[in-house]
Amino acid sequence: MTQIRGYAALAAKAPLVPFLFERRAPGADDVALDILYCGVCHSDLHQVRDEWGKSSFPMVPGHEIVGRVTAVGAKVRGFSPGDHVGVGCMVDSCGTCPSCGEGLEQYCDHGFVPTYNGVDRDGHPTHGGYSTQLVVDQRFVLRVSEQLDPAASAPLLCAGITTYSPLRHWRVGRGHTVGVVGLGGLGHMAIKFAHAFGARVVLFTTSQGKSADAQRLGADEVVISKDREAMKKQAKRFDFILDTVAAPHDINTLLNLLKRDGTLTLVGVPETPHPSPAVGSLIFGRRQLAGTLIGGIRETQEMLDFCAERGIVCDIELIPAQRINDAYERMLNSDVKYRFVIDIASLRS
Ligand code: NAP
Ligand code: ZN
Repeated sequence: MTQIRGYAALAAKAPLVPFLFERRAPGADDVALDILYCGVCHSDLHQVRDEWGKSSFPMVPGHEIVGRVTAVGAKVRGFSPGDHVGVGCMVDSCGTCPSCGEGLEQYCDHGFVPTYNGVDRDGHPTHGGYSTQLVVDQRFVLRVSEQLDPAASAPLLCAGITTYSPLRHWRVGRGHTVGVVGLGGLGHMAIKFAHAFGARVVLFTTSQGKSADAQRLGADEVVISKDREAMKKQAKRFDFILDTVAAPHDINTLLNLLKRDGTLTLVGVPETPHPSPAVGSLIFGRRQLAGTLIGGIRETQEMLDFCAERGIVCDIELIPAQRINDAYERMLNSDVKYRFVIDIASLRS
């Protein structure tokens, strides 16, 4: 067991505080790493506030991890001390069910083990990346190019893959008009990827002040979603819409923007459900309403390699761990430009 410094919530909605805890000694299949940077996902906030009803405390959040390998177990192949690596939302899965067999560990029939707020194989709670070190099975370690800024690449491990995966699954590309709803951590990466895949991208935002940034990120058009007239003008224009909003809202308005056979995919997981959409919004136009969860390990590596090739990273605000509670407050106010990342050096000093 190694003693680790981290930041934890000791109870639901409590501010995060410095926290000492232990991790297992690396086993034969494990990779040990020094964490360098960890992104701050809205899912951290939902779970710290127990908005999904499954939180256990103390909780060390963080599933957008970039670090440097310090040691590897005897059976580890392909990773060596010094390697620049990433860990996302999962640290284990059964490895044998059909989904795991297809590289879709996030849909493991037995449930994947989340990087934090879960229970590890050894029965201990899992603790995430708001901490100095991590020990993780080699199957869940990703390679992150040293060409990419390490702090700005950390959020690729969740915000990146969660938006890359649906855009690939629904084959978004040239000739398509794509809507992105919400400009936060996920939304800003959805714009970058949809633009990189050649689609025409329209951002739907509740924030007046994000237009110029959205255009810089790759949006061709920005629509204020509270403006009913502006929304009406967008009717039946979209092949695909990705909804990243972290709060409940009307889905009908978005479904009505889809062309015939278009798809609205939800990735936001609000505390309470969206109002159920009208059947008519779906059947008049054979439209589809879907949801998707992060992405598998193989696809996460593909996304990281794509980002390395294209020089794509996240737009971040780097903070010391001591400022995490302020960052959460700002995220609650949709005031994030566009991902907070914790500099883990702040936990070592
Ligand atoms: P975020 O950075 O906080 O961004 C959310 C954005 O939603 C805001 O910036 C805001 O954009 C918009 N929004 C509009 N009304 C809002 C409200 N009342 N409260 C909060 N946001 C509002 O969040 P994120 O990290 O991108 O995560 C977004 C959601 O995806 C969360 O629910 C998170 O748990 C979920 N998530 C899902 C997956 C998955 O696998 N499905 C993975 C990661 C995260 P505008 O200002 O532009 O309106
Ligand atoms: Zn996340």
